[in-house]
Amino acid sequence: STLEQTLLSAIRTIPDYPKPGILFRDITTLLGDARAFRRAVDELVHPYSGTGVAKIAGIEARGFILGGAMAHQLSSGFVPIRKKGKLPHTTVRVAYSLEYGVDEMEMHTDAVQPGEKVILVDDLIATGGTAEGAVKLLKQMGADIVAACFVIDLPDLGGRKKLEALGVNVRTLVS
Ligand code: IMP
Repeated sequence: STLEQTLLSAIRTIPDYPKPGILFRDITTLLGDARAFRRAVDELVHPYSGTGVAKIAGIEARGFILGGAMAHQLSSGFVPIRKKGKLPHTTVRVAYSLEYGVDEMEMHTDAVQPGEKVILVDDLIATGGTAEGAVKLLKQMGADIVAACFVIDLPDLGGRKKLEALGVNVRTLVS
Protein backbone atom coordinates (compact mmCIF):
# COMPACT_ATOMS: atom_id res chain seq x y z
CA SER A 1 0.00 0.00 0.00
CA THR A 2 1.07 3.60 -0.35
CA LEU A 3 2.80 5.29 2.53
CA GLU A 4 -0.13 7.61 3.16
CA GLN A 5 -2.60 4.68 3.31
CA THR A 6 -0.30 2.76 5.65
CA LEU A 7 0.03 5.71 8.01
CA LEU A 8 -3.61 6.82 7.87
CA SER A 9 -4.86 3.33 8.65
CA ALA A 10 -2.43 3.11 11.59
CA ILE A 11 -3.63 6.38 13.19
CA ARG A 12 -6.63 6.02 15.52
CA THR A 13 -9.23 8.78 15.89
CA ILE A 14 -10.85 9.23 19.29
CA PRO A 15 -14.01 11.35 19.35
CA ASP A 16 -14.61 13.75 22.28
CA TYR A 17 -11.07 13.51 23.69
CA PRO A 18 -9.84 15.38 25.70
CA LYS A 19 -13.08 17.39 25.51
CA PRO A 20 -16.49 17.04 23.86
CA GLY A 21 -16.36 18.00 20.18
CA ILE A 22 -12.64 17.31 19.72
CA LEU A 23 -11.44 14.56 17.36
CA PHE A 24 -8.14 13.38 18.82
CA ARG A 25 -5.62 11.84 16.42
CA ASP A 26 -3.90 9.08 18.38
CA ILE A 27 -0.51 7.87 17.09
CA THR A 28 0.02 5.21 19.78
CA THR A 29 -1.46 2.69 17.33
CA LEU A 30 1.03 3.81 14.66
CA LEU A 31 3.92 3.51 17.13
CA GLY A 32 2.75 0.00 18.04
CA ASP A 33 2.66 -1.10 14.39
CA ALA A 34 6.25 -2.09 13.54
CA ARG A 35 5.91 -1.49 9.81
CA ALA A 36 4.06 1.82 10.08
CA PHE A 37 6.51 3.14 12.69
CA ARG A 38 9.52 2.27 10.54
CA ARG A 39 7.95 3.73 7.40
CA ALA A 40 7.04 6.96 9.17
CA VAL A 41 10.55 7.42 10.58
CA ASP A 42 12.22 6.48 7.28
CA GLU A 43 10.05 9.00 5.44
CA LEU A 44 10.67 11.76 7.99
CA VAL A 45 14.47 11.43 7.74
CA HIS A 46 14.74 10.57 4.04
CA PRO A 47 15.59 14.08 2.68
CA TYR A 48 18.22 14.70 5.38
CA SER A 49 20.36 11.57 5.14
CA GLY A 50 24.02 12.57 4.81
CA THR A 51 23.30 16.32 5.12
CA GLY A 52 25.11 16.79 8.43
CA VAL A 53 22.17 17.24 10.77
CA ALA A 54 23.77 17.69 14.20
CA LYS A 55 20.65 17.39 16.40
CA ILE A 56 17.04 16.31 16.35
CA ALA A 57 14.99 18.46 18.75
CA GLY A 58 11.86 16.64 19.94
CA ILE A 59 8.88 18.28 21.63
CA GLU A 60 7.63 16.52 24.80
CA ALA A 61 6.32 13.87 24.76
CA ARG A 62 5.50 12.22 21.44
CA GLY A 63 8.25 14.19 19.71
CA PHE A 64 10.72 12.30 21.94
CA ILE A 65 9.67 8.94 20.50
CA LEU A 66 9.86 10.02 16.86
CA GLY A 67 12.94 12.16 17.45
CA GLY A 68 14.91 9.40 19.17
CA ALA A 69 14.32 7.08 16.23
CA MET A 70 15.18 9.84 13.73
CA ALA A 71 18.38 10.72 15.59
CA HIS A 72 19.51 7.09 15.51
CA GLN A 73 18.76 6.80 11.81
CA LEU A 74 20.66 10.02 10.94
CA SER A 75 23.45 9.45 13.49
CA SER A 76 22.49 12.80 15.05
CA GLY A 77 22.20 13.85 18.67
CA PHE A 78 18.84 14.30 20.39
CA VAL A 79 17.63 17.40 22.27
CA PRO A 80 14.52 17.37 24.48
CA ILE A 81 12.25 20.43 24.51
CA ARG A 82 10.23 20.07 27.71
CA LYS A 83 7.46 21.61 29.71
CA LYS A 84 8.82 24.02 32.33
CA GLY A 85 10.47 22.67 35.44
CA LYS A 86 11.55 19.31 34.06
CA LEU A 87 15.10 20.01 32.84
CA PRO A 88 17.82 19.99 35.53
CA HIS A 89 20.47 22.34 34.08
CA THR A 90 20.40 26.00 32.92
CA THR A 91 17.59 26.58 30.42
CA VAL A 92 16.09 29.03 28.00
CA ARG A 93 12.34 29.34 28.44
CA VAL A 94 9.52 30.58 26.20
CA ALA A 95 5.79 31.07 26.64
CA TYR A 96 3.59 29.56 23.94
CA SER A 97 -0.09 29.72 23.22
CA LEU A 98 -2.48 26.86 23.77
CA GLU A 99 -6.12 26.68 22.74
CA TYR A 100 -7.03 28.23 26.11
CA GLY A 101 -4.25 30.25 27.73
CA VAL A 102 -0.49 29.84 27.68
CA ASP A 103 2.18 27.47 28.97
CA GLU A 104 5.97 27.52 28.98
CA MET A 105 8.60 25.21 27.51
CA GLU A 106 12.35 24.98 28.03
CA MET A 107 15.55 23.73 26.47
CA HIS A 108 19.03 23.42 28.01
CA THR A 109 21.23 26.37 27.00
CA ASP A 110 24.09 24.02 26.06
CA ALA A 111 21.91 21.61 24.04
CA VAL A 112 22.59 23.26 20.67
CA GLN A 113 25.68 25.19 19.51
CA PRO A 114 25.35 28.28 17.26
CA GLY A 115 25.18 27.25 13.60
CA GLU A 116 24.38 23.60 14.23
CA LYS A 117 21.88 22.05 11.84
CA VAL A 118 18.77 21.02 13.77
CA ILE A 119 15.51 19.30 12.79
CA LEU A 120 12.48 19.92 15.00
CA VAL A 121 9.90 17.12 15.37
CA ASP A 122 6.49 16.50 16.94
CA ASP A 123 3.68 14.08 16.17
CA LEU A 124 1.15 16.65 14.99
CA ILE A 125 0.85 20.33 14.05
CA ALA A 126 -2.48 22.06 14.67
CA THR A 127 -2.39 25.84 15.32
CA GLY A 128 1.41 25.75 15.33
CA GLY A 129 1.65 27.50 18.71
CA THR A 130 3.69 24.69 20.27
CA ALA A 131 6.11 24.39 17.35
CA GLU A 132 6.45 28.19 17.15
CA GLY A 133 7.62 28.21 20.78
CA ALA A 134 10.18 25.51 20.03
CA VAL A 135 11.41 27.44 16.98
CA LYS A 136 11.93 30.52 19.17
CA LEU A 137 14.07 28.52 21.64
CA LEU A 138 16.19 27.02 18.86
CA LYS A 139 16.68 30.39 17.15
CA GLN A 140 17.62 31.97 20.49
CA MET A 141 20.45 29.44 20.78
CA GLY A 142 21.58 30.18 17.20
CA ALA A 143 20.48 26.86 15.67
CA ASP A 144 20.26 26.48 11.90
CA ILE A 145 16.72 25.01 11.67
CA VAL A 146 16.77 22.74 8.63
CA ALA A 147 13.09 21.74 8.91
CA ALA A 148 10.18 21.15 11.26
CA CYS A 149 8.70 17.65 10.77
CA PHE A 150 5.34 16.23 11.82
CA VAL A 151 3.56 12.98 11.05
CA ILE A 152 0.15 14.71 10.97
CA ASP A 153 -0.88 18.14 9.66
CA LEU A 154 -4.29 19.61 10.52
CA PRO A 155 -4.13 22.20 7.72
CA ASP A 156 -7.35 24.04 8.62
CA LEU A 157 -5.72 25.20 11.86
CA GLY A 158 -2.95 27.07 10.03
CA GLY A 159 0.15 25.78 11.80
CA ARG A 160 2.15 25.08 8.66
CA LYS A 161 1.55 28.62 7.39
CA LYS A 162 2.53 30.07 10.76
CA LEU A 163 5.90 28.26 10.70
CA GLU A 164 6.51 29.03 7.04
CA ALA A 165 5.94 32.72 7.79
CA LEU A 166 8.85 32.40 10.25
CA GLY A 167 11.01 31.06 7.41
CA VAL A 168 10.86 27.44 8.59
CA ASN A 169 10.67 24.60 6.07
CA VAL A 170 7.79 22.30 7.13
CA ARG A 171 7.55 18.58 6.35
CA THR A 172 4.41 16.55 7.14
CA LEU A 173 3.41 13.00 6.13
CA VAL A 174 -0.41 12.96 6.25
CA SER A 175 -3.14 15.62 6.36
P1 IMP B 1 -0.68 23.25 18.27
O1 IMP B 1 0.24 23.93 19.24
O2 IMP B 1 -2.06 23.86 18.23
O3 IMP B 1 -0.07 23.12 16.90
O4 IMP B 1 -0.94 21.78 18.82
C1 IMP B 1 0.03 20.78 18.62
C2 IMP B 1 0.43 20.16 19.92
O5 IMP B 1 -0.71 19.62 20.58
C3 IMP B 1 1.38 19.02 19.68
O6 IMP B 1 2.32 18.91 20.75
C4 IMP B 1 0.47 17.81 19.61
O7 IMP B 1 1.09 16.65 20.14
C5 IMP B 1 -0.73 18.22 20.46
N1 IMP B 1 -2.01 17.86 19.80
C6 IMP B 1 -2.99 18.69 19.41
N2 IMP B 1 -4.01 18.01 18.85
C7 IMP B 1 -3.65 16.71 18.87
C8 IMP B 1 -4.28 15.48 18.40
O8 IMP B 1 -5.40 15.43 17.83
N3 IMP B 1 -3.57 14.35 18.59
C9 IMP B 1 -2.34 14.35 19.17
N4 IMP B 1 -1.73 15.45 19.60
C10 IMP B 1 -2.38 16.63 19.47
